[in-house]
Amino acid sequence: MPYKKHSLIDDFEISTKVLGLGINGKVVECISRTTRKKYALKILLDSPKSRREVSLHLKAKHCPQIVEVSDVYENSYGGEKCLLIVMEKMEGGELFQRIQEKTEGGLASFTEREAAEIMNEICSAVYFLHKRNIAHRDLKPENLLYTTKGKHSILKLTDFGFAKETVNEGLSLQTPCYTPYYVAPEVLGSSAYDKSCDIWSLGVIMYILLCGFPPFYSNTGLAISPGMKKRIRTGQYEFPDPEWKNISLSAKDLIRGMLNVNAESRLTIEQVMGNEWICKFSNVPQTPLFTGKLLREGEENWTEVQEEMTRSLATMRVDYERINIKSLDFSNNSLLDKRRNKKAK
Ligand code: ADP
Repeated sequence: MPYKKHSLIDDFEISTKVLGLGINGKVVECISRTTRKKYALKILLDSPKSRREVSLHLKAKHCPQIVEVSDVYENSYGGEKCLLIVMEKMEGGELFQRIQEKTEGGLASFTEREAAEIMNEICSAVYFLHKRNIAHRDLKPENLLYTTKGKHSILKLTDFGFAKETVNEGLSLQTPCYTPYYVAPEVLGSSAYDKSCDIWSLGVIMYILLCGFPPFYSNTGLAISPGMKKRIRTGQYEFPDPEWKNISLSAKDLIRGMLNVNAESRLTIEQVMGNEWICKFSNVPQTPLFTGKLLREGEENWTEVQEEMTRSLATMRVDYERINIKSLDFSNNSLLDKRRNKKAK
C-alpha cells in the first residue's frame, strides 16, 4: 500500500475523542468525510521504527483476527513529519474488560469452553503472523480489542510497535556452505526465540482467562523484580484451588507447554493450534470459572498486572536480543568464515 502524501484532513475529520493512550502517543477517533464512518487514528513520528510497525501491520492485512489498517498517510503534523495510521475503530473494548462486564451481577457465567474459543481466536492471529515470519512480541491484554459491544463481536490483535520480521538464521547456517560443525542449539534460529515470546504471552493470557489472576506477580512496583524474573525463568507458578480445581487437565497441560521455561522446548504455534483444547474448543467442558468475579475483585490491581506483563515482555525481548547478538558474533567468527570459504570453493 503506497502511503498517501496529501493531507489526511482532506479525507477525514479528526474528532476530539481519545480512544486510548499508548507509549507512542494518542489514538484518536477520526471520521471519513465521504462515508461518515468512524475510524481510529494512530499518529507516529516518522522514523525507521514507525515504518517497520506500519509495514508489518500491513502484512497482516488479510487476517480476520488482526485490526485492519485502511490507510496510511505521510503528513506533516504539529510541525513534525508523521505517519498517520487509519485503522478500523474497535468499539467493543479490551478483552478482560468485556469478560468482567459480561459476568457482572452474576447474570452469566464465563466458562472454560468460552475461554477456549477466545484462545482459539488469539492463537489464529499469532498463527497467521508466525507463518509469515512475523513475531508480534507485545501480545498482552490491552492489545486485544473487540470490534463492537454486540454479541457477534470479533476479538482482534493490534499494535505492531514491537513486531519483528524473523529471519531464521538457523536455516541460513544450515545451508551447505554455512553448516557449523559445532553450534549451541540456542544459537540456531533466533527467530524461534522471538516467536517463543508470543507463546509465553499466550500462556499468561490463557492462565488469566481461566482464573482471573496472573501466574506470576511481584507486587513490588520495581521494573521487573529479581524475584519475579526468577519465578518466570524457573517456571514457578501454581494452579491453586479453588479456582483451578475443576479446570480440565488438558487446559493445564497446554499452559505448561506454553510457559515452558526453556524457550526451545516451548510449544510452537503449530503445536498450539493442533492441540484439541484449542482446535476443538466446542468439545471443551462448560465448567463455570471464577474469572469474572476475581477480575472484578482485583480491578484496582489490573493496571499493575498490565504493567508487569509489559515489563516482562520488555525483559524477554532484551534477553533474546542478546542471544541474537551472540549468534551474530558466532556467524562472524573467523574460523567459521574460513570454513565457509573453503566449502564455497
Ligand atoms: P502504542 O503502540 O502507543 O502502545 P496502541 O496501538 O497499543 O499504542 O494503542 C493504544 C491504545 O489505544 C490501545 O490500548 C487501545 O485502548 C486504543 N486503540 C488502539 N487501536 C485502536 C482501535 N483500532 N480502535 C479503538 N481503540 C484503539
